[in-house]
Amino acid sequence: MTGEFIPGSYGGDPARISDAARLECKICWHVYDPARGDDYWQIPPGTPFSQLPDHWTCPECDASKNGFMVIED
Ligand SMILES: [Zn+2]
Repeated sequence: MTGEFIPGSYGGDPARISDAARLECKICWHVYDPARGDDYWQIPPGTPFSQLPDHWTCPECDASKNGFMVIED
């Protein structure tokens, strides 16, 4: 087995992400913080990651939402 299971990873299932969870891009380390929203995509503060539009991608590197993983506090 070469694959690593990361307990906090997004795994493509939005139901696993809490509304307050911050997520980090695995490519460029950009952090999406729901408390701040996203100026690039004009996402208002208070928007959970699971509520981002389907076309949302990383503002820094254009990675899809599947490329993000939950940050464990
Ligand atoms: Zn990125």
